[in-house]
Amino acid sequence: MDIKSIKRDLQREYPFRLELHAHTRPASPCGDIPPETVIDTFYRSGYNGIAITNHFFCDLFSRYYHAKDKQEVLDKYLSDYYKARQEGEKVGMKVYLGAELRWQSTGNNDYLLFGIDEHMLSDIYDYMSADPATFVRDCKSEKSFFLQAHPFREDMTRFDPALLDGEEVFNLHPNHNSAIAFADQFAEQHQKIKTMGTDYHHEGHHNLCSTRTKILPKDSFELASTLKANDFIFEITGSIILP
Ligand SMILES: [Zn+2]
Ligand SMILES: [Zn+2]
Repeated sequence: MDIKSIKRDLQREYPFRLELHAHTRPASPCGDIPPETVIDTFYRSGYNGIAITNHFFCDLFSRYYHAKDKQEVLDKYLSDYYKARQEGEKVGMKVYLGAELRWQSTGNNDYLLFGIDEHMLSDIYDYMSADPATFVRDCKSEKSFFLQAHPFREDMTRFDPALLDGEEVFNLHPNHNSAIAFADQFAEQHQKIKTMGTDYHHEGHHNLCSTRTKILPKDSFELASTLKANDFIFEITGSIILP
């Protein structure tokens, strides 16, 4: 069997294309692109679903959101997600609620979370002044999928893999070196599920990779269970496929 037909078979077996790490502005002040445009951009490139994983941490709430209370934080955060979801419904693309969390106790480490809803996000808010281990122990739902984002990027320290469901091995943000080979080795060593995402913030790197699935997850929870089942493949630039 030649390589082309193997690729074609895999694409047929895993027909749905997902982006699992995307930021929108203004919910993520480091992003450039409003939610509607993010959705249109990925939709036009043939994606079927996208997880909106905006930043979520205390310093952001006070310094950038200037939020006076929890409700204001949640409103600002969710407003981008709702806009994205509405645009997704218009064009026919699934939009999943996710988050990229950060705790002061682990410095610049970022953690991705899938399998959440608005009520859970409100509970998670209460744990953002604690630390990730406390969050995992007392707040994280069985229905969620929690992983360290780009664990080998500069300024990161490796969080205890026993408390994680996975590692974001393939972070394709073009302005950072996420040391993919080290991340891959680490995930293998600790037998963690590997994920991939573009860490979309700016124009021009939306079509670098996708996670291909057999079914199209209907919501953030089904996305989490699909990831837990580890039944997906990675595609990079449409030409390299990693089963
Ligand atoms: Zn960012
Ligand atoms: Zn990110």
